[in-house]
Amino acid sequence: MTAVDMGIPVVRDRADDVSDRPDVPELLDRFGRIARDLRVSLTEKCSLRCTYCMPAEGLPEIPRDKLLTSAEIVRLVGIATGRLGVHEVRFTGGEPLMRRDLEEIVAGCAQQTPGLSIALTTNAVGLRHRARALADAGLTRVNISLDTIDREHFARLTRRDRLDSVLDGIRAAVAAGLGRVKVNAVLMPETLEGAADLLAWCLDEGVELRFIEQMPLDADQNWARSQMVPAQQLLDVLGRRFTLTETEREDPSAPAERWLVDGGPATVGIIASVTRSFCSDCDRTRLTAEGTVRSCLFSDRETDLRAALRGGATDEDLAAVWRGAMWNKWAGHGMDAADFAPPQRSMGAIGG
Ligand code: SAM
Ligand code: SF4
Repeated sequence: MTAVDMGIPVVRDRADDVSDRPDVPELLDRFGRIARDLRVSLTEKCSLRCTYCMPAEGLPEIPRDKLLTSAEIVRLVGIATGRLGVHEVRFTGGEPLMRRDLEEIVAGCAQQTPGLSIALTTNAVGLRHRARALADAGLTRVNISLDTIDREHFARLTRRDRLDSVLDGIRAAVAAGLGRVKVNAVLMPETLEGAADLLAWCLDEGVELRFIEQMPLDADQNWARSQMVPAQQLLDVLGRRFTLTETEREDPSAPAERWLVDGGPATVGIIASVTRSFCSDCDRTRLTAEGTVRSCLFSDRETDLRAALRGGATDEDLAAVWRGAMWNKWAGHGMDAADFAPPQRSMGAIGG
């Protein structure tokens, strides 16, 4: 493991400069964007070790007293939805299913804000046993990560032989009525060979497949722009087996470009986060498992909410700190700049 994946961000110990910030309740930034989509990382732990994300030995353990409790998470989500204009919350990690209190967290958020869209990004290992309880708790949508349906290939990519558990988890999510289940695959040279089989499987199971360009967020720092698979190459591979017709995005600000498969209604999507960055439309705010606000995946500057929260801050105090953190959000990830350096935390440590 390199020092980079240790994930020691720059946590701001002084207030963000908000002297030129207009007095609005939302999470506005200097570039006019408003964050309405909250990603909450629940843990650094994971049941897999995907090579594009985690180091083989896993991430360093977060001391338990530094991890937000379920009650603290529910309170912060309530502040985001009640005071800051957040419309949707997504739990991620690490692997959110590693938290035994996930159902409690989901139920707490659902009861606090009726009608809130509550989503989960998961690798689905063990989801079979929890999908129904999560749906009952108020989970509305689930995105499941799966790069291949070939067992050996899966074991190589994730360093764990858990494909069957993932496939069972996907089926359980569909059976539990967890929205339109989406499957996300990271687009890289290794996924190309099995991409058509993966799409065929998703079509059979009635789930929507999207490929996401690999970002320089792997703990091992092996990402290289020269290894990026262009969207057209994936379309060529899929096009040998399926007829693909470009169609409109789910909504104009949605990141996935979409193609109808064999005339539809099924679609396959590509999220080109690297080659066609959508930073100018970014509406995300992130909370790490330790309770810091991270305004961008690629910015290591984080603002600590946990200390204030445990120090007796009111909801409005916490909302003000959060607003300041987002006001100072960067314009974009800067991957094309000559001096681009990947962030200190890897994807699994930030919460993808
Ligand atoms: N463990 C859960 C899972 O895998 O879905 C949630 C956390 S994971 C960090 C969230 C998402 O980030 C997954 O869909 C994963 O494929 C994606 N991801 C991880 N590393 C990535 C990278 N280097 N580039 C692009 N996506 C990545
Ligand atoms: Fe774990 Fe998700 Fe990272 Fe894979 S992508 S190692 S499942 S956190």
